[in-house]
Amino acid sequence: MKRIDIVAEARALYEDLDLQSVKRWMAGAPGRKAVGYLPVYAPKEIIHATGMLPVGVHGGGDQLEIIRGDAYYQSYICHLPRSVVELGLSGRLDCLSGMLFPSTCDVIRNLSGVWQVLKSGMYVRYLDLPQGQDLDAMVAFWASDLKILHQDLARVAGVEVDAEALRASLALYNAVRETVRALYAARRDTPERVPSEELYLLSRAGEVLPPESFMALAEAYLECVRREDVPARDNSRVVVIGAFCEQPPLGLIKTLERAGCYIVDDDFVLGNRMINHPVSLDGDPWMALSDALVRDAMKSSIFYEADPTGKKRLVKERAAAARADGVIFAAASFCDPALLDRPMLRAGADAAHVPSISFKYSENSGQFQQFREQAGTFSDAIKLWGGR
Ligand code: SF4
Repeated sequence: MKRIDIVAEARALYEDLDLQSVKRWMAGAPGRKAVGYLPVYAPKEIIHATGMLPVGVHGGGDQLEIIRGDAYYQSYICHLPRSVVELGLSGRLDCLSGMLFPSTCDVIRNLSGVWQVLKSGMYVRYLDLPQGQDLDAMVAFWASDLKILHQDLARVAGVEVDAEALRASLALYNAVRETVRALYAARRDTPERVPSEELYLLSRAGEVLPPESFMALAEAYLECVRREDVPARDNSRVVVIGAFCEQPPLGLIKTLERAGCYIVDDDFVLGNRMINHPVSLDGDPWMALSDALVRDAMKSSIFYEADPTGKKRLVKERAAAARADGVIFAAASFCDPALLDRPMLRAGADAAHVPSISFKYSENSGQFQQFREQAGTFSDAIKLWGGR
């Protein structure tokens, strides 16, 4: 498969707000169902273990005009819930048999309540992700919640709860995360060969495709990356931090790279690689999945950090791992988790002498000139006066 065809397929999935690809998958065999989840982290393995397709619901981006979604929320709030409501009211998500709302923030928690009113026939679940200091208690709590979720979803799917099926799903999603990491490693090591726009489109494809199809597409893409030589530009290397929930428009991602910044790590679609290492396939699979999230999740603004210096060290560690010259703090406007963490993260960047800039965006931002100027100046400043 040629790179141009792979990227075109991923772009078509990104633009598929009507979930036609999901409907095609459902039509492929009798009784197939799909369940949506909001960002950032949801246990896709549990959905998959019941035979249903996990589907990431990431809003309407810049492709959707908000007509009725605004009426459900006050002005001072991010854009994502408005476009998710708009998608719901327009019937685009009606093919889903359930929706999971993780405890990313109050907005998504409240959206789970709105959804119960809007879609009374649909299975709707608020996921109270484990947060705290007592890791053993958190593992036990989340494992018991995963079991309840599994029972509920098995009922929706019309199957029995099956520990072996869950183990198989754990193994499959271990492989998915490995594939995502291979894509990220390829971009980190050769950013000239892996434009962030393409990596992002592939990541989004992974949110709607069955896992095997996503891995095949990603492997074909990596094969092209290995084959094709592309001259490197004199760009600065940056990590983009804070865009973990409401996604930036594709034009903004392209703009940052065109302005002279190779993105060598980011938070986009973070849930697809939230767990760092393979989930154990031994013992109780619910405990194993819970343990992996509690003890081995990527550090991010959506989880409580017991170590008060942890968030300050985070930027230094991520910049070093990505061999980055600087950091761009990019958060959705009114995003509480990202913006409340930003002073701590920025202080950490300053203390580690990692140059940084920051800005806010909305998923439907249409003007990129200010971002181009800011990122271009940042890249030039790094080249003139040095990064880390
Ligand atoms: S963008 Fe931020 S505030 Fe909005 S739903 Fe996501 S995490 Fe919550």
